[in-house]
Amino acid sequence: MSKSNLPAPVATVALEVAGTTAVGGRESNEDSILVLDLAGTLADPRNGSQAMLVAVADGMGGHDGGEVASAKAIEVLQQTISGHAATDAAHALKSAFRKANEAIIAAGTDGTGTPGMGTTLTAALLLGKYATIASVGDSRAYLVREKRLTQITKDHTMVADQVAANAITPDQAKSHPQRNILTHALGTKPKLDPSLPGIFEVALLPGDRLLLCTDGFFDVLQTDDYTHALVSADPGVAAAALVQLATDRGTTDNVSAVVVAAIPTRAPVVDLAAVPHKPQRSNVSTIYAVIAVLVVLALLAAFILGIVA
Ligand code: CA
Repeated sequence: MSKSNLPAPVATVALEVAGTTAVGGRESNEDSILVLDLAGTLADPRNGSQAMLVAVADGMGGHDGGEVASAKAIEVLQQTISGHAATDAAHALKSAFRKANEAIIAAGTDGTGTPGMGTTLTAALLLGKYATIASVGDSRAYLVREKRLTQITKDHTMVADQVAANAITPDQAKSHPQRNILTHALGTKPKLDPSLPGIFEVALLPGDRLLLCTDGFFDVLQTDDYTHALVSADPGVAAAALVQLATDRGTTDNVSAVVVAAIPTRAPVVDLAAVPHKPQRSNVSTIYAVIAVLVVLALLAAFILGIVA
């Protein structure tokens, strides 16, 4: 078999991740972000594939409550996923969100934070090209594929429910005076609703970009702004460009963006070193050779016996 006859290499991806958070139009930053390479920390990592954990959290609450709540959510997420087996990403994320909810409630009453503080949390656990995304609140995950932007997560907001019920249009929701009112967040109820977090799964294709972001972008950026920033640059440059653009356009909120880039790579299907250099004789041809020898021996025996007789 010549090299050119080998199956074509499989297109696959290498992950590059980066994030930026900024105070934007506020006096303090209540957002928290996470960009973590999980290599060596997962209990049961998949063979040879990359493992990353990324997240954004948008805190709310009086005094420093918002900052404490979003930081606590990120801290518990990181701790829970780091010790978890990678075989069931959705289960690991659900467990982490429940623990984060309980930790924020506890911190609200033990003096660490303020009572009633809460936070959104949108997280992506990336195992090779497979992204499992979990979300509570209105921080979003977007996918950019072939220069098209798609929102992956569903907002837990009053206006999103009204859009789903066809009571208002998506355009009306974008400028609705109550667009910031959440229906779910971490830290607001002792037990997280059984339907939470929302779980979404995406297999990344070469060239894809995944964006996790808080709501400080929503009022000041248009679809083209996201796609332009995400497609043209590396993750760190893209995240910084989005944050800068929102700040330049006068966002009144904190702004946080984490970008995952699925960089195209090529991996051969066949390990060339493992391919034998000489073709091996098959079992069938070995059997034919044995039969041929036996036939020759039989003819020879018959000939000799014929002479003797
Ligand atoms: Ca916000």
